[in-house]
Amino acid sequence: MSTRAPAVQARQLVKTYPGDVTALSGLDITVEPGTVFGLLGPNGAGKSTTVKILTTLARPDSGTATVAGHDVLRHPDRVRRAIGVVAQKSGADPVATGRENLQLQGRLYGLRGADLNRRVTELLDRFRLSDAAGRQVKGYSGGMQRRLDVALGLVHRPEVLFLDEPTTGLDPEARTAMWDEITRLAGDEGLSILLTTHYLEEADRLAERIAVVDRGHVVVEGTPDGLKGELRGDAVHLELRAPVQDAGRTLLESALAALPGVRETQFDGRRVSVRADDGAAAVPALLGALERAGVAVTAATVARPSLDDVYLRYAGRRYSEAQAATGDESAADALAPAGGAR
Ligand code: ADP
Repeated sequence: MSTRAPAVQARQLVKTYPGDVTALSGLDITVEPGTVFGLLGPNGAGKSTTVKILTTLARPDSGTATVAGHDVLRHPDRVRRAIGVVAQKSGADPVATGRENLQLQGRLYGLRGADLNRRVTELLDRFRLSDAAGRQVKGYSGGMQRRLDVALGLVHRPEVLFLDEPTTGLDPEARTAMWDEITRLAGDEGLSILLTTHYLEEADRLAERIAVVDRGHVVVEGTPDGLKGELRGDAVHLELRAPVQDAGRTLLESALAALPGVRETQFDGRRVSVRADDGAAAVPALLGALERAGVAVTAATVARPSLDDVYLRYAGRRYSEAQAATGDESAADALAPAGGAR
């Protein structure tokens, strides 16, 4: 690491797209050098826009950012030399071989001759692509293609690596393999890595710190353990026959929250979400309190807290709603891995 400045520091980034779309509404993050930082959020949260600004591909309307100590607006050329970018969409040429892709990328960064060949061979070896080095990239599996993408981002030995949704579209096996690669990178090379993801498990596995992004800003930030620690206990979900009117709602919320072992309650239309130390033990008391208040319950489920619960708690709406608002139907896919992340 050649700098002691934060690898990334963004302050109050605001970005609006034509049509009055607010992509960023005052985003703050700090990535310490030599660490892996995860930006976690549903589609449309503003993750890619953040990466575009930090990698000098877009300008913020306001706010400031430095990467590897360089200001992204004043010294974009210095930033570009200091970073590697692995975009969601592969930048590799499908009709060129893996080796040719790496050689071209190296030449773009000024590597030549023996230096270039050494670096290309090293990367092919490190990303387990030596055997496939002479084959056209269009014949690579999804996992191989992603590994090549990461290798391409590292050719010029950047200080900060941006990984935008590194495992989206990979099958579970290739995803796990990619997680191992990223962990190795972070450990071996002392690189600073900023990754974006909509998988809780991915952020949990890879990132030393996570910033949860929703609607263009960070709603909560911390270590994976810290964030999970705040979600200890069970999530109890109750389905009501009819929504509770505003007037009765506050009263009911405090009545439920006062029950033993109940930490927090949130009403959301006909659904009530409760965090309780022991969900199964809390259900009878919750049902009793609601019955006394004349509120009919049609279903009750107990589960360990999920990504949805993190969102509901910090962003004030359900993760699935946030995904649905962008027309993305993969909410269930994004939520699924959260089950294994506790
Ligand atoms: P994420 O990466 O978290 O999915 P994005 O940064 O891509 O989020 O998008 C944030 C918001 O900005 C979304 O509402 C998206 O539709 C909008 N957006 C992103 N890029 C553009 C663009 N080029 N033009 C208009 N709106 C955009």
